[in-house]
Amino acid sequence: MIEAHDAEPRGGGSAGGGPRAAGDHPAHDELTGLPDRSLLYERIGRATDGLRHSASRGSVALLSIDIDGFGAINDRLGAALGDEILGAVAGRIRDAVRPGDTVARSGGDEFVVLCERLDASEDAVMIADRLDTSFGQPFVLADREFRLEVTIAIALADPQNPDLLDAMRAAESAHITGMPEGGRWRIFDDDLRGRATERRRIETALRATADGQDLELHYQPVVSLRTGRVTGVEALLRWRRGSELVGPDSFIPLAEETGLIVPIGSWVLRTACAQVASWQRSTGWQDLRLAVNVSARQLQLREFATVAVEAAADAALTPGSLSIEITESVLLDDVEASGQRLDHLHELGIGVSLDDFGTGYSSLTYLRRFPVDSVKLDRSFVAGMGTDPGDTAIVTAVVDLASALELESIAEGIETEVQLDLLRSLGCDSGQGYLLSPPVPAEEFQDQFLAAGHDCAVPGWSHP
Ligand code: C2E
Ligand code: MG
Ligand code: MG
Repeated sequence: MIEAHDAEPRGGGSAGGGPRAAGDHPAHDELTGLPDRSLLYERIGRATDGLRHSASRGSVALLSIDIDGFGAINDRLGAALGDEILGAVAGRIRDAVRPGDTVARSGGDEFVVLCERLDASEDAVMIADRLDTSFGQPFVLADREFRLEVTIAIALADPQNPDLLDAMRAAESAHITGMPEGGRWRIFDDDLRGRATERRRIETALRATADGQDLELHYQPVVSLRTGRVTGVEALLRWRRGSELVGPDSFIPLAEETGLIVPIGSWVLRTACAQVASWQRSTGWQDLRLAVNVSARQLQLREFATVAVEAAADAALTPGSLSIEITESVLLDDVEASGQRLDHLHELGIGVSLDDFGTGYSSLTYLRRFPVDSVKLDRSFVAGMGTDPGDTAIVTAVVDLASALELESIAEGIETEVQLDLLRSLGCDSGQGYLLSPPVPAEEFQDQFLAAGHDCAVPGWSHP
């Protein structure tokens, strides 16, 4: 385990329970108290081993931080003040990183941050962005104000490319040669800075909207491919930002990372349940079903089943009409706990659909292991039907498999009549897609599918 911040005092002795470098090397830098280069290398070695042996998931990043023109500053102000500046820089870096990250002084004016267990390479950019913001503030030492410019190079490794040292050497030499972007390292430049700023902007706006303000749900009908009748709806989240309606792919990942998906997800469940329950009541259409997408972070909550059941019960939704859609990656996160949560939901009468089926790694295992009621064929396979024999074969196999396991098969993304006809002839149970209807606002769904009967009028559709 890496101790928080490694902020041992000067000349830090036994490294606060952490490993010592070989021999009697003190392993910590006298001036700043940070791990020195040898201890950093030891930790990089451990992190790399973890990646190689898949002991750790996620990626590892090294941020190499170089103070621009430090030599000149030192010459001008004298070594004593130069040392103070280095101490202050060390403090700034420690304050900007996450607990558990290793901050080391790797050379005269060079510092390195080792970040393990990152969810995505963008997290390294976020940390670089925080460092950049922090260095934007002046340093006040000996009653004088100093501004320092830093260059940050980011090197990345993951289980597929575990050689972190290679990436770090490239990143470090980039400080000297100013090499252009390449492979697994990047200089934190205007482009990355711009992306990080945009991310922060989205996060701030999203935080302000977590109570549902500015969020909307659109509803896409799920149609029985046997009868052509609408049997249910999938609720799909939209975010209104001024005149723009933003799709979930641009903000759900960030909402997941920041945990905002939990309040947002509860809002989605409650709003969708209330909407569909009111449709059930106003039309007497008791078995109109509702599907809601759920993220890993939501399912990880111990109380998730209660949240879902209460949302349905409070809205007086007909029991058995709610199902949740999860992707395989949701299950992958913590197989044991996910299984228990899903079993619980199942016992409480909530259906479970495997979304984007076929795009993950071990779909078949999941079908046996978890209480799944339906599989949703990913639209990438549906798109190739009729033109790509491989895709048609996959769809055929999944429909047969679902049928053999007595699961409902639902095809996503039906856009053409060829796809629709093929799916019907294969015996696929249900379908969604632009051909049948795009996701539409609640009022539109009401006008199109509730007021005018439950049929999905599709050109060329011949009802049995
Ligand atoms: P999904 O659950 O697989 O939803 C299907 C996506 O395909 C939707 O995109 C839908 O608008 C789109 N789609 C439907 N028919 C067609 C078609 O014929 N052709 C094509 N090309 N696309 C079609 P959308 O609404 O942008 O949602 C994207 C993803 O965001 C969803 O994929 C789901 O994973 C996620 N999502 C949406 N709403 C929520 C939510 O409330 N909570 C969570 N956690 N995730 C959500
Ligand atoms: Mg879905
Ligand atoms: Mg899907």
